[in-house]
Amino acid sequence: MAKHVTHWIGGKPPAGTAQRQGDIYDPATGQVTGVVDFASSSDVDDAVAAAKLAAQSWGRVSLAKRATVLFAFRELVKSHTKEIAALITSEHGKVAADAAGEVARGLEVVEFACGIPHLQKGGFSENVSTGVDSYSIRQPLGVVAGITPFNFPAMVPMWMFPLAIACGNSFVLKPSEKDPSASILLAQLWAEAGLPDGVFNVVHGDKVAVDALLTHPDVAAASFVGSTPIARYVYETGTRAGKRVQALGGAKNHMVVLPDADLDLAADAAVSAGFGSAGERCMAISALVAVDPVGDELVAKIRERVAKLAVGPGSDERSEMGPLVTGPHRDKVASYLDSGVRQGASLAIDGREHPVTGGAPGEPNAGGFWLGPSLLDHVTPDNAAYTDEIFGPVLSVVRVKSYADAVDLVNGSPYGNGVAIFTNDGGAARRFVSEAEIGMVGVNVPIPVPMAYYSFGGWKASLFGDTHMHGTEGVHFYTRGKVVTSRWLDPSHGGVNLGFPVNS
Ligand code: NAD
Repeated sequence: MAKHVTHWIGGKPPAGTAQRQGDIYDPATGQVTGVVDFASSSDVDDAVAAAKLAAQSWGRVSLAKRATVLFAFRELVKSHTKEIAALITSEHGKVAADAAGEVARGLEVVEFACGIPHLQKGGFSENVSTGVDSYSIRQPLGVVAGITPFNFPAMVPMWMFPLAIACGNSFVLKPSEKDPSASILLAQLWAEAGLPDGVFNVVHGDKVAVDALLTHPDVAAASFVGSTPIARYVYETGTRAGKRVQALGGAKNHMVVLPDADLDLAADAAVSAGFGSAGERCMAISALVAVDPVGDELVAKIRERVAKLAVGPGSDERSEMGPLVTGPHRDKVASYLDSGVRQGASLAIDGREHPVTGGAPGEPNAGGFWLGPSLLDHVTPDNAAYTDEIFGPVLSVVRVKSYADAVDLVNGSPYGNGVAIFTNDGGAARRFVSEAEIGMVGVNVPIPVPMAYYSFGGWKASLFGDTHMHGTEGVHFYTRGKVVTSRWLDPSHGGVNLGFPVNS
């Protein structure tokens, strides 16, 4: 039977029928498996109203109690990892191990948020003036919204809501309409963990729901992750409406391979980071910058590895790479193989020819949104395969003459999410770390995703706003500071003083 996914408002699915819905696909078969309700602006009003009511009491709940709920949520998500991962695989397509991996990385933020009693501490200065003390506190904002992309339906929302909730806010999540089910299971687990109704809400849908959240007077802040044009739009719309906004956008991540690098390590990394999750990761490597003379050898090593990759349904544990998320997206990604060649590149590996294997006997793989790993070589920086964020399993090799040319290329990109350098030269690596105008840098690590206690975020067109996600920057984003200056009178006090308060 086809599934029906609806919103989660005030601790339960709302009554009533949606006027608009979207199809949910299984990308491995290409079949529609269900529908998801699209929120109207009045559904968003209901969710925000529930969140506003809940925030009034949740913001006053003790730190100890908030931490207790987070610990319980952590246990529940951990014990339901397989179930969450299976939902992700069935709607996103990524292989089960990768889906479980995203749940694990999201859990790290929950674990970080369990330390909220420590994280939300303020400062105290005794006797800033004679008999006067000063201290700072950080208080929740109220209702905050999160708008998230299809490619990490569990992890990216978990970059946001554990900390937002730990800080005493209530949260309204608008997940991607392409893979909406994981968010509803997470909502149920919050309820089971003892989170009061209305503190965590989910509205599904599209631009209608997003716009309603971004302009709602009772929403104080919005966190967004998605493509650059929408990130820019969300930032501009939200800030115009007076909200605090952090909007993470798209990426074009380079991996620079210097001539002294271990080329086997580099080839392993390029294949893993280029084709893991079918290249649908914001930290995927999409431009491989081969510094002369390593290009030919590196491409040969990648070719050997790609030939062995098992492409097939994410639910089959033999598969290493699954399908793309939708048919139109697969077609768009594949179009870069032809346009890339027209614009001067050579197609070293054509993923359209890669076999699709696995799946249960008789299961119709044929209709799935498949595209195997592909490699465009001799790509020049004016090729659309280089300039566009393709967001699929297409790796572009750009050959450059020197380290300096590689740095110029990296820094000339409008994006600044992630970058990696492969070398055995510590001095070169150290210089690169300093010179790269990019938010997250890997040294012999192709996907340098920061741990939960650091903050995640890019530079330039990869982030609008000034606060990265999770870590201490996350705590900062979801709270506002207050400084208190306090004097308790002692019997020696007396006298009016119209002067400006200065230290004495
Ligand atoms: P997307 O921008 O199409 O959608 C993101 C969210 O915005 C979804 O919830 C979607 O429903 C909503 N949305 C889409 N169009 C909208 C519109 N016109 N107005 C208002 N809201 C709209 O992104 P996607 O295709 O779901 O995800 C892939 C993109 O996300 C890639 O560009 C990828 O690089 C990026 N991404 C970035 C990061 C990061 O940390 N920087 C992480 C993951 C994904």
